[in-house]
Amino acid sequence: MDLGLKGKLAVVTGASKGIGLGIANAFAREGAHLVINARGEEAIEKAAREISARHRVRCLSVAADVATAEGCDYVIDAAQDFGGADIFVSNAGTGSNETVAEASDDKWMDYWNLHVMAAVRLSRGLADQMEAKGGGAMLMNASICAVQPLWYEPIYNTTKAALMMFSKCLSTEMIKRGIRVNTVNPGLIRTPDWENTTRELRGEDWETYLQEVADEHADIRRFGTVEELADFCVFLCSPRAAYSVGSAYHVDGGMLKTV
Ligand code: NDP
Repeated sequence: MDLGLKGKLAVVTGASKGIGLGIANAFAREGAHLVINARGEEAIEKAAREISARHRVRCLSVAADVATAEGCDYVIDAAQDFGGADIFVSNAGTGSNETVAEASDDKWMDYWNLHVMAAVRLSRGLADQMEAKGGGAMLMNASICAVQPLWYEPIYNTTKAALMMFSKCLSTEMIKRGIRVNTVNPGLIRTPDWENTTRELRGEDWETYLQEVADEHADIRRFGTVEELADFCVFLCSPRAAYSVGSAYHVDGGMLKTV
């Protein structure tokens, strides 16, 4: 299937590793050019070099912290200079670990800025570019935890739920400007981060532990691959998904326990 993405410009945050890197590679495979972002300069530059070389597309790295207004402006300006965004995937994010009783206000605000304000600021800035190019698509990467919380990360659950609601509100506004907005809620996706955390927790036995996590949570009894999720995300951002507006899609191997 031709997804119709050749020559488009996709902006992907949190793209130096894991899901964001997978999404960037999947766009590049379809012939889309990219602006990719993360904080770590070396890693994001390396990712951009590898993507350009592998897929023969233009890929610009932008080292910036999207949890700040300045970092978002930096990404928005870079996308404008690179030709203007057609697609935006808000992906930068990370898990948390706390109790409500013990977590500080600062911790709440840090996650709010990363999971919600980054999406607010970037979508606001990039929408003008998309509109000028005749429309576009935005995808917010929330989490299954936005609707089915894990007990040890209340800040993550709450801020991802807020991102999902923001995405719905934004979609109503943006469709009038020719921009489709959707949310994806992944379940367990096997990333280097999951592997490293599990190694720290369980040492040599880490693969057994990963399997136990999958057995406990996902009906399919395995983690999803980055590629399985990335393909879905790229399809949703493509003109082939033109009637998908303001929806939230679970990619979770049966982890969600409600209809
Ligand atoms: P990783 O930790 O593997 O990658 C996170 C990426 O985001 C890195 O490139 C990191 O680079 C970047 N990043 C982190 N903070 C910032 C910031 N403030 N500004 C810019 N870039 C940032 O995460 P995953 O790939 O696992 O997760 C990606 C997204 O998917 C997250 O939003 C996560 O909540 C969501 N998700 C993941 C699931 C999973 O099972 N893996 C399940 C459900 C949702 P750097 O540190 O250099 O900035």
